[in-house]
Amino acid sequence: MIARVSLEIALRKEFDYSIPASLAGQIDVGSRVQVPFGPRKVLGVVTAVAEESAHARLKPILKVIGAQTLVTPKVLKLARWIADYYCCAPETALKSVLPEAVRKEDAGWRERLFVRALPAGGELPKLPKRQRDVWNIVEERREILLAELVELAETTAATVRKLEDRGLIEITSEISERDPYARETILPSQPLVLNPAQAVALEKIKVAMNRGEDGRHLTPTLSPLLADSQRGEGEKPSSIFHPQSSTFLLHGVTGSGKTEIYLQALAHALEQGKGAIVLVPEISLTPQTVERFKARFSSGKLQTLVAVLHSHLSAGERHDEWHKIRQGRARIVIGARSAIFAPVEPLGLIIVDEEHETSYKQEEAPRYHARDVAIMRGQMENAVVVLGSATPSLESFYNCKRGKFTLLELPERVDNQKMPHVRVVDMRQAAHKEKGAPLFSPQLKEAINQRLDRGEQTILFLNRRGYSTSLQCPKCGYVCNCPNCSLALTFHRQEQKLACHICGHVEKVPLVCPNEKCKNPAIRFSGTGTQRVEETLAKLFPKARIKRMDADTMKRKDDYRKVLGDFRAGKIDILVGTQMIAKGLHFPNVTLVGIIYADLALHQPDFRAGERTFQLLTQVAGRAGRGDVEGEVFVQAFAPFHPAIQYARRHDFNGFYEQEIEFREQLKYPPVSRVALLTLKGRNEEKVKFSAEHLRKVLESKVQSPKSKVAAGETTLDIGHWPLDLIIAGPAPAPLLRAETFYRYQIMLRTRAMSALSRELARIIQSLALPEDVTLAVDIDPVNLG
Ligand code: ADP
Ligand code: ZN
Repeated sequence: MIARVSLEIALRKEFDYSIPASLAGQIDVGSRVQVPFGPRKVLGVVTAVAEESAHARLKPILKVIGAQTLVTPKVLKLARWIADYYCCAPETALKSVLPEAVRKEDAGWRERLFVRALPAGGELPKLPKRQRDVWNIVEERREILLAELVELAETTAATVRKLEDRGLIEITSEISERDPYARETILPSQPLVLNPAQAVALEKIKVAMNRGEDGRHLTPTLSPLLADSQRGEGEKPSSIFHPQSSTFLLHGVTGSGKTEIYLQALAHALEQGKGAIVLVPEISLTPQTVERFKARFSSGKLQTLVAVLHSHLSAGERHDEWHKIRQGRARIVIGARSAIFAPVEPLGLIIVDEEHETSYKQEEAPRYHARDVAIMRGQMENAVVVLGSATPSLESFYNCKRGKFTLLELPERVDNQKMPHVRVVDMRQAAHKEKGAPLFSPQLKEAINQRLDRGEQTILFLNRRGYSTSLQCPKCGYVCNCPNCSLALTFHRQEQKLACHICGHVEKVPLVCPNEKCKNPAIRFSGTGTQRVEETLAKLFPKARIKRMDADTMKRKDDYRKVLGDFRAGKIDILVGTQMIAKGLHFPNVTLVGIIYADLALHQPDFRAGERTFQLLTQVAGRAGRGDVEGEVFVQAFAPFHPAIQYARRHDFNGFYEQEIEFREQLKYPPVSRVALLTLKGRNEEKVKFSAEHLRKVLESKVQSPKSKVAAGETTLDIGHWPLDLIIAGPAPAPLLRAETFYRYQIMLRTRAMSALSRELARIIQSLALPEDVTLAVDIDPVNLG
C-alpha cells in the first residue's frame, strides 16, 4: 500500500510514500505522519491511500503521529475547498485545520509522562544541586509534565529518574487532562420558557434539523453563497442547491434572547445524537459567555460535554480540549474562528454568533471567512447553520432577501426594556461657537456631569482605527470623496495629496473647503485618539475616575478582564475606549454612552464604511440602559444627517439596508458582486508599482481572450472560464502605502462568479514571474481593504 502525503512545507504538491509493514493498518486518510524529504524529516497529512503509485522506488513513511487520524475526511474535504476558493496552497489550508498544539505533538498524548511528588517520609536526603533544583520545582507544583519539568529545570530526564530512584517522586503515564475551567464551579441552568418570537424561531430551526435526518443529502458546490442567477459562466450547475434553506439568519436586537435560542437548539442536536459548534468572536469569548453554555450542558455529571477552543488557552489545554472533541467526549465546541474546524462528528448544528464581525476573517493565508466556511461545512455535512446578529452583515441579509437563507426575527428585548434614546449632536455648530472642533460638545459635557452627580457610569467611545485619514472640513462636515468610487479619499500627508486606493485617482489637497457655501481655509484632517480624549476628560472632570481601554493599554492577557471587573464593581466612573468596549458587554449601571466622533468610521476608504458605522453605533448604543434606568446615547458627528447615523439613531436596520444596498448595486460592490483584492508588496516602490501594472496587463489579456482550448479526443484539457462580468480597478497604492518599510499596491477585482475567478487566479499566480523581492497576496472576499 502507498499513501499520498501533503507536506507542511509549502510546495503545492503531494508526494507518494510507501506504508511499511510495521505501520500497516495504522495509516488512513487524515493521519499525521513523518516522512523523509531529501535529507530532512518533515510532517504531513495523508490525503489518499492507494494500492500503487505511478512513481517507482518510494521512500517509506517513518512514523504515525497520534493514535487516531487527526484530520477527519470531512475536515480534509473542507480544507480542500478552502484551498480552492481562497486561492491558497493546499498545505496552507491543511495546516490551519489542526491547532498547532495538536499538529506539533510528536508523541501521542497517551505517552505523556507526568511527574508527581510522593508524600515525604521523614527528612529530605541531601541531594546534589541539580537534583535539588528539580525537586524544588516538583515540590512546588506537586504535579508537572515531565517534558515541562525538563525544560523548566534545564535538566535531563535521566536526572529526574534519579529522584524517582530515591523514592521522592513518581513518573507515570496516566492521562491527566487539563481543564481550563476546572477551578470554576458553574451552577446548572434550566431552559427558559420562550416568548412567542423566540418560540417561532426555535421551531423553524428544529424543523430544519429534523429534516436533515431523513437523509436528504446536499452536494455542495464551490460557491455556496452565490444565488443561481449570480452564477457566471463556468460555475457549476446548481441543481444541487437545496430547495429549502438550512441556513438561518437570526436577526435580534441586543438582549432579545438569541443566546437562549442557541442553547435550546443545541439541546435538540444532543437529543438527535449529534454534536455542534458555536463560534463567537474572540473578544466576546469571555468567561461569562463560556459559562452560559457550560451551565446548560456541562455542569454536574456532564463534565466534558462542552469543549472550548481559543487562543488564550495554553498549548496543553488546547491539545486536550481538541482530543476531547475528537474522541467524542465533548459534543459541543465553543470557540473563536478556527473552532469551525473542530472534529465534531456527526455534526448537527453550527452557530455563528455576531456573524457580521470582521474578526471571523483570517488576515493571513489561508484568508478564510469562518462564517462562510461554516455555511460550506453545514452544507457538506448536512448540518443546520444559524447566524445571529443584532446588525447582520449586508451579505447575509442579502442572502435572506434572495431566499438563500431563512430570516428569523426577534424585534424586541426580552425584558421589555426600551431601546436607549439616541441623540445626534451636530458638531459643526459646536465647532462654530468654539472656533475649531472641541472634543466634547456642551450637551455631552452636561450629560457626563449629570451621571457623575448621580453615581451612574459612562462609556465614551472613539473609533480611532489606525492610519487612514480622510479630509473633512471641521466647519461644514464636507468630506473629499473620489469622483469614481464614492469613497473617502485618503490623505497622504507627506506628499500633500489625496488618493483613492480603489481606482488610483489622485488630486491635490484643497486650500479651502471645496463646499461653495463654506470655503473654510481651515480644512484639515483631524486626528484625535483615545489618549487625547482621556487627557481632556481628566482636565474637564478632575474628580472622575477614568480608565482607558484600547490596544495600547490592554497589552497583557489579564488587563481586559481586570478593567472590566473594576468597572462592574463601580470603581471606575468613565470608561474610554475603542471598539474593544463596543461588544456584548452588559453593565446595568451604565446609563450614558458617548460616541466622540461618529464620522471617523464613516470616512474610512472602504465601501463598507457606512455599514461599519451603522453596526458600531448600534452596538455601542446597545451598551446603554441595560439596567432599570433608561439609557441615553450621544452621537457627536460632523455629518449628522448621514444615513448610517440617522438609521442607527432610529434603530432601523431595514431602512439602512435598503438605502445601502442601492449604493452597492450602483457601484457593483458586495454583496451584489464579490471582491478579490490582490496586494503586491516589496521594499522598492518602483518594482512594486511596475509588478502591479504588469499583473493588471496579464489580467486584462485573459479577460479579452476567454480561452477555451479543447484537446483532441474526449478529454478537455484547459478550459479557462473567465468571469465575463469582471471589473478590474487599480493598481492603486494601498491606504497604508508604506507599512513596516514595505510598499504596497493593490488591484481590486469584482465579479459575481468568484469560484471561477479563484481557479483562474491560482493558475495565474503559478505562472506569474514577479521580481524576487515583490510578493503577491490574494484576498478573496476581503473584509479589510487596508
Ligand atoms: P441576546 O443573546 O439576544 O443578546 P440573551 O439571550 O443574552 O440575548 O438574553 C438577554 C437576557 O434575557 C438574558 O439574561 C437571558 O437569560 C434572558 N432571557 C432570554 N430569553 C428569555 C425568556 N424567554 N424568558 C426570560 N428571560 C429570558
Ligand atoms: Zn476611486
